[in-house]
Amino acid sequence: MIVTELDDIKAARIALKNKLKTLFKHYDGKIRWDEPLTRYTSLKVGGAADMMVFPQTVPELSSIMKTIWKHRLPYFVLGAGSNLLIKPGGIKGVVIHLKHLNHVKLLDGNRLQAEGGLSYPKLAIFAMEKGLTGLEFAAGIPGMVGGAVVMNAGIPGMETAPLLESITLINEQGISEKIPAETLSFSYRTSQLPKGVIVSAVFALTSASRESIETTMKTYLKRRQETQPLSFSNCGSVFKNPPGLHAGRLIEQSGLKGYRIGDAEISERHGNFIINRGGAKAEDCLALISKMKETVLDLFGIALQLEVKVTGQD
Ligand SMILES: Cc1cc2nc3c(=O)[nH]c(=O)nc-3n(C[C@H](O)[C@H](O)[C@H](O)COP(=O)(O)OP(=O)(O)OC[C@H]3O[C@@H](n4cnc5c(N)ncnc54)[C@H](O)[C@@H]3O)c2cc1C
Repeated sequence: MIVTELDDIKAARIALKNKLKTLFKHYDGKIRWDEPLTRYTSLKVGGAADMMVFPQTVPELSSIMKTIWKHRLPYFVLGAGSNLLIKPGGIKGVVIHLKHLNHVKLLDGNRLQAEGGLSYPKLAIFAMEKGLTGLEFAAGIPGMVGGAVVMNAGIPGMETAPLLESITLINEQGISEKIPAETLSFSYRTSQLPKGVIVSAVFALTSASRESIETTMKTYLKRRQETQPLSFSNCGSVFKNPPGLHAGRLIEQSGLKGYRIGDAEISERHGNFIINRGGAKAEDCLALISKMKETVLDLFGIALQLEVKVTGQD
């Protein structure tokens, strides 16, 4: 990119930030400006958010979305950041974080209503305590409920979508919509949902004994401990498994385990994980991803598809 183009991009970003400061002058919730997103993502790389908000209530979120809509502002919804690789230039516009919308309640008929910012493992524990089975797999998935719905999070043979009865979304106009799950489209680690912010979801589960739920959960967690590099910052599986194959095994067979760029490394424990050895940069992780893709394509003729979401500005 030539220098004047870069200058134009920088100037536009500064103008956007000034506009945000004016538009949100009377907002009485907490705003963080230029907030480093390394604090909010499990891989701990990438740039900053121009502006970050943490709505305490759904009406407050709705009012933020109305302002965003009225002024056509860029926005991004951040969950636990456990499936994200944020680029060095960070995220332009408003980043919405749902950490305060984290409640859960038991409804009648083995149903649970969980807010979008609730941790998925906490929801799994709550279900276990109520003697409800179905969410055991979620105990080791370090996302929030909203992120788990968007990603249709799961493990082989089990995923989020079949457990959903409905979701409630604050749409881009700031209006609340309750949407039955059967009208939504989900597939392997992805979904096509209406745009907006998922503020809650209703899960329909089945009764079972607490002991059996706990045993299943512990088995899943033990397997993760044994196979995943959980003592390092990481973003979970980098690639989706191609049909009938394992992305991790293809990367392992390519001889790439342990391959390192800067402080980003392809885990020795699991070929489909990039670990941050402490000082990794987003650029290092992106370069590793290219290396993994190109090598597997050259050796096996298979084009790996990303599971991790790469987002933000260069
Ligand atoms: C150690 C480790 C193990 C993992 N294991 C698994 C696993 O076994 N199975 C699996 O499926 N995944 C796994 N993951 C990946 C990740 O935890 C899941 O994809 C998780 O569901 C992402 O949720 P999140 O809240 O972190 O979403 P984020 O990473 O923050 O966001 C993911 C996407 O969802 C969108 N989003 C988030 N919240 C909302 C909302 N409320 N409304 C609208 N959009 C929203 C974001 O904009 C983004 O596009 C693992 C990750 C790690 C680090």
